[in-house]
Amino acid sequence: MKITSNILSIPPYISTTWNNISSLHVREERGSYTLIVLLQNGVQAEVPRLDKRTVTEIFEAHARSAEESVASKTSSPSEGPLNLSLLTNSDNPFTSLGASMEHNPEQAGLPPLPPAILKKITMVARAFGLDDTSQLAKAEPHCNCVYCQVIRSLQGLDPAEELIEEVSDEDLKFKNWEVAQTDKKLYIVTNLLDKNEQYNVFLGEPLGCTCGSKNCEHIRAVLDT
Ligand SMILES: [Zn+2]
Ligand SMILES: [Zn+2]
Repeated sequence: MKITSNILSIPPYISTTWNNISSLHVREERGSYTLIVLLQNGVQAEVPRLDKRTVTEIFEAHARSAEESVASKTSSPSEGPLNLSLLTNSDNPFTSLGASMEHNPEQAGLPPLPPAILKKITMVARAFGLDDTSQLAKAEPHCNCVYCQVIRSLQGLDPAEELIEEVSDEDLKFKNWEVAQTDKKLYIVTNLLDKNEQYNVFLGEPLGCTCGSKNCEHIRAVLDT
């Protein structure tokens, strides 16, 4: 038998932590006590034939555990959604969340939020049912305001991933290759923006490009034609 402020263990009847227990009752029968434990999952466990001292001990442990969990919740105010107030200078995390749930071009240049904080805001937003992002304005592509960062996070867009996407888009825009076939499997690839930049691509065995890579955009440009 183990009765502490964390654990209630009375084999073979019950062994669990207090946070799984929602309430305790006692039934007295002919000088012995039956403890009825209602668990959070709705299951009820009965522990028969306890003496009064043990019952008192169990109730005291339960009270201690409740006090300790309240104390640990209030002793760390910097944890949890209260962190939001740091971002928006508001005392109330929930109004500040509401206020930040709007695209704000003035914040467009914000540095990326620390992932831990972004995760917390996202979790709070989900808890508020804000994860149905189809109801919300979309994140502006190049904006880093709190709203846009949270929306991207809610939509599961990793900011780093989006960055990579943007880069390859730029590539497509700025690197247009002209492909000319000079022989059966031989192609000349010319950069349209700088005609001096030319590569020979061979689509036979072995596949190759004069830039030295076997997996370059010049070969891809040839394959795309
Ligand atoms: Zn924005
Ligand atoms: Zn190449």
